[in-house]
Amino acid sequence: MRSLRRLAVIVLVGAVAVVGTAYVTGFDLAEWEHLGKPRNVLVVDGEQIRIPLPEGPPERKAASLPVSTEGTYAFMFDEGEQGPTRYDPCRSLRWTHNPAGMPEGAEQLVKDAVADVARHSGLAFEYVGETDEVAGFDRPLFQEQYGEQFAPIIIGWSTEEQTPDLAGSVTGLGGSSSVNGAFGEQRFLTGGVVVLDTDDVTELMESRRGTSLATAVIMHELAHVIGLAHVDDPTELMNDQNSMLITWGPGDRAGLAIAGSGPCQ
Ligand SMILES: [Zn+2]
Repeated sequence: MRSLRRLAVIVLVGAVAVVGTAYVTGFDLAEWEHLGKPRNVLVVDGEQIRIPLPEGPPERKAASLPVSTEGTYAFMFDEGEQGPTRYDPCRSLRWTHNPAGMPEGAEQLVKDAVADVARHSGLAFEYVGETDEVAGFDRPLFQEQYGEQFAPIIIGWSTEEQTPDLAGSVTGLGGSSSVNGAFGEQRFLTGGVVVLDTDDVTELMESRRGTSLATAVIMHELAHVIGLAHVDDPTELMNDQNSMLITWGPGDRAGLAIAGSGPCQ
């Protein structure tokens, strides 16, 4: 039985895994409205796959949020003049959940965390149902079960045996891939992954304020998914040694608003 002090340490760490994705700009049949511009492709297992065209009109799904707080934040993919690499705010962030291994009662925490990140980022999340895909950072970005589009963000549960990066005090992992849009140089995030440690979250949920703390862990990992990196400031939820925080700090809030204010395709 771990002491509360030990429990605190478990919450404290949410590791980040960044997926580097190889890409090339290739020449392919351009869509008629982009005649003359090469369609970007991803090379997957040696095969060129055209980057899917964005669905729907180029209008934001939800209003962007002003940055109204000051504090520390950082982005995982900072592309210089282009700004940080972010999700396209004109498309819903499709997400799926694999409940295998989920602690009892945690489903609501997952939904609450997604709703919270949506609210604080101005990004629209769209639940597309459960999946049996095993969440991991080597997942293919294109999968038959998800059709022609990029695989949705996946939230899943694992153990230290199945996912060695969860070893020790790491409660969760989160990240996304950075890829080019269908045309041009602008890069976007896609294919996000959150892997949660079943044992650590179970233990956390049994502690005082457990459901809030566990929800905050999932929020932290989802913030990685939409591009935020760790910061040194211990009063921010994006600190990797974070203590018993259950909500965002001022820098987190600024970072989330910026994460939701990227360009549209
Ligand atoms: Zn983290």
